[in-house]
Amino acid sequence: MAATVYKEPAPLLDRENPLESMMSRFNVAAEILGLDEETYNVLKTPDKQVIVHIPVTMDNGKVRVFEGYRVIHNTILGPSKGGIRYDKNVYLDEVKALAAWMTWKCAVVDIPYGGAKGGIICDPTTMSAGEIERMTRAYTLALKDVFGPDRDIPAPDMGTGPREMAWLMDEFSKTVGMTSSAVVTGKPLVMGGSLGRTEATGRGVMVATLAALEKLGMEPTEVSAAVQGFGNVGSWASKLLFDKGLKIKAISDISGAYWNDNGINIDEAIAYKNAHGGRLEGFAGAVPMDADELLVSDVDVLVPAAVEDVITEHNAPYIKAKLIVEGANGPTAASADPIIYEKGISVVPDILANSGGVTVSYFEWVQNKQGFKWTEQMVTERADRIMTDAFEKVYAVSQKYNISLRIAAYVVAIDKVAQTYKFRGGY
Ligand code: NAD
Repeated sequence: MAATVYKEPAPLLDRENPLESMMSRFNVAAEILGLDEETYNVLKTPDKQVIVHIPVTMDNGKVRVFEGYRVIHNTILGPSKGGIRYDKNVYLDEVKALAAWMTWKCAVVDIPYGGAKGGIICDPTTMSAGEIERMTRAYTLALKDVFGPDRDIPAPDMGTGPREMAWLMDEFSKTVGMTSSAVVTGKPLVMGGSLGRTEATGRGVMVATLAALEKLGMEPTEVSAAVQGFGNVGSWASKLLFDKGLKIKAISDISGAYWNDNGINIDEAIAYKNAHGGRLEGFAGAVPMDADELLVSDVDVLVPAAVEDVITEHNAPYIKAKLIVEGANGPTAASADPIIYEKGISVVPDILANSGGVTVSYFEWVQNKQGFKWTEQMVTERADRIMTDAFEKVYAVSQKYNISLRIAAYVVAIDKVAQTYKFRGGY
């Protein structure tokens, strides 16, 4: 029987195209910088887009063909870096936007990487470990000439984690005939992963939140928060903000949202999630609430840490939070930007707020290349300093031009990449 290509329907129509969202901010920042047309054209287009079709023998013996992507947005600052997403709704424009965000993110935190992203259209929740392993290895083999420790370095994203990174590292190593630890980050600790990587993105969200609260003159112990998404980023951000004394009144995941006016005990929520297949469903430490309601709930800080486009022109007018810290990539549609700005809500944008992850991924790569393991203290101290410096730089630019932190972050990033491009030169 002929193999079929597994492809889900296109994403929901009312979702904004993340590539267009990214480009509209890029355009504003480019204008502020007075970016010349040549550099603009170089930076707006991805360097390379690869689409692969991967045949995988499923457990029932039938072959299913999965569609996968790897987009290299830019390598002016160094080898490209970016996660791999396993999701049934992944599509090329989303991967292109995520790849560009990686370029800007690495530039904002001043690490020597370009930007990339990958994805496979699949639903890992319905696949066995064996099926996911075969798919991951086949994807790696299909992209063996794209990946490389000095070329393009993948990492986990939604639907992937250390397990998939281990398979990717192993498969790539076979193709080059030697162990190549630095080809991928987010690996298990025993095989060259970095201490502090698991919590790195959530930790960066915490550091960015505290820095922003200080600018706003708000005391962390008097502040309430709602966190959307309770995966790697959301649960760690919740836990570390909870430890700093913030009252986390609402949390949610794909299975539901929960509210406790007195604050949720995040340690209990994490223990519950770990004991219940990674989901919050049935969590008794809070009362169930409407998932959409969480975004407009009565809290001081909102941390979207799940998926794109959850804050839109439709719900933005009703947001009560004074500060939004974007743990997720692209959680705010561009159409919501002016509404949020008018309301005087501060937004620490994704390319700054969640850059703690790629920063510690960079540390992992450095350690692999050094053949040396840093202590957890070395990792967290260096990552916190990079995060704080980046926040201050972006904040200063926002003050200088009287612009939002989001546009300021794009200005910082594009300026760095454009200046490097000028020095390196084109054809
Ligand atoms: P994850 O797969 O570990 O967790 C995602 C969480 O979001 C899960 O709890 C899931 O149930 C929940 N979720 C999904 N759809 C939801 C919805 N509609 N409403 C509420 N909850 C929903 O993924 P992650 O690694 O935590 O990534 C989350 C976001 O952060 C993504 O945008 C990702 O690109 C971004 N990000 C992740 C990292 C990282 O290091 N993991 C780094 C930078 C950015």
